[in-house]
Amino acid sequence: MSKLQPVRGTHDLLPGDSRAHRHVMDLARSTAGLYGYEEISTPIFEFTEVFKRTLGDVSDIVTKEMYTFQDKGGEWITLRPENTAGVARALISGGLSQNLPLKYFYSGPMFRYERPQKGRLRQFHQIGAELLGVPEALGDVEIIALGAHILKTLGVADAVKLELNTLGDGESRAEFRASLVKYLSAHLKELSQESRDRLDRNPLRILDSKDEGDRKIIAEAPKLAEYLNPSSRDFFQTVCAGLDRLDLAYELNPHLVRGLDYYCHSAFEFTTEALGAQGAVLAGGRYDGLVKTMGGPATAGVGWAAGIERLAMLVGEVESEAKIIAVVPVGPDMEAQAFALTQELRGAGFCADLAFRGNISKRLKRANRMGAVCAVLLGGEEASRNNVTVRDLGSGDQQEVSQEGLQAHLKRYC
Ligand code: ATP
Ligand code: MG
Repeated sequence: MSKLQPVRGTHDLLPGDSRAHRHVMDLARSTAGLYGYEEISTPIFEFTEVFKRTLGDVSDIVTKEMYTFQDKGGEWITLRPENTAGVARALISGGLSQNLPLKYFYSGPMFRYERPQKGRLRQFHQIGAELLGVPEALGDVEIIALGAHILKTLGVADAVKLELNTLGDGESRAEFRASLVKYLSAHLKELSQESRDRLDRNPLRILDSKDEGDRKIIAEAPKLAEYLNPSSRDFFQTVCAGLDRLDLAYELNPHLVRGLDYYCHSAFEFTTEALGAQGAVLAGGRYDGLVKTMGGPATAGVGWAAGIERLAMLVGEVESEAKIIAVVPVGPDMEAQAFALTQELRGAGFCADLAFRGNISKRLKRANRMGAVCAVLLGGEEASRNNVTVRDLGSGDQQEVSQEGLQAHLKRYC
């Protein structure tokens, strides 16, 4: 190893990035709070089985993207590629289903072995929400409305559009799947290799293929909408009517599918054209069969996850809100006293900074570079009168203030 590098697809979040991430997480968390969603935090690794069972042996995530290893005790462990499985596992292992419905919000790092590019990392971060124990269509409406609310609060609502589809219930899906497989089998030779591989394992995902040739075949394929039974159709109508009533615009996208059997009814995605190929910002759907698949009690669920990196790119730079007060000793003799004053200000809740070295002009330059709002100059002469000089770094105005009245005076800057 010639030079120490971060692992490919991982990123250091330097203060500017951290600020942007924190901004997204904080606004999302507080908005979720308005809907009664409380924060949950599950471990970043789980037994591999947790993801194999939930994501299915055939999904891209399980077949290609998981970070899996055997720990020193011989257990197979996987770094979580997403958080719904962890939440469902927590519901089962913690016996939480006694208290349904449950509303959870989460945020944190996820891990997928993918080809890194802009907006696609190997360690990335998600916020997400899960609503458990609500089989009603209004649950779908609430979870979508929460996603839309967060995007609006972040100021990115205009950069995204909502795409919506329904997968219907298990019965509708099974019928559709059978007829899709029949149709696609008749066109097997024209399909891409990837889609041919998927035909047995995960045929619905073929509908999402980006391959030109596949897309021509898909255009003529049976439509899921035609296979919905009456109750599935009612369910979807209630979801659409609920969104209409909230003035939440959406576009129907029949190709928006989730391959796995426990998904049903709504599938949705907020997408953007502002991030090039990485257009999916927030994606989710209903997963009523998931908890049962994992060996827990049958529990309805609907939720979404959004990539924080992609959201942060849409939001752009987030300014620091810190109102820094720079304390500047006038001469080396005043340094100890200046440090004590700095500490006193911090104790009173001000954000105060004392440079560790430099003459007055260097220190003032540093204060300006940091964006400090004012400088408190502590010189021997004023100190003998128990005073300090406060310089407004915006206007340059100076004022001598008593040390006793300093905190009250500084309040105007905060
Ligand atoms: P994509 O189609 O971009 O691969 P996905 O369908 O794999 O997305 P989900 O599993 O639905 O994504 O995850 C939800 C969200 O998490 C995505 O919409 C995206 O914003 C974000 N996300 C997923 N994978 C990554 C990644 N490798 N790097 C950064 N963000 C990601
Ligand atoms: Mg992916």
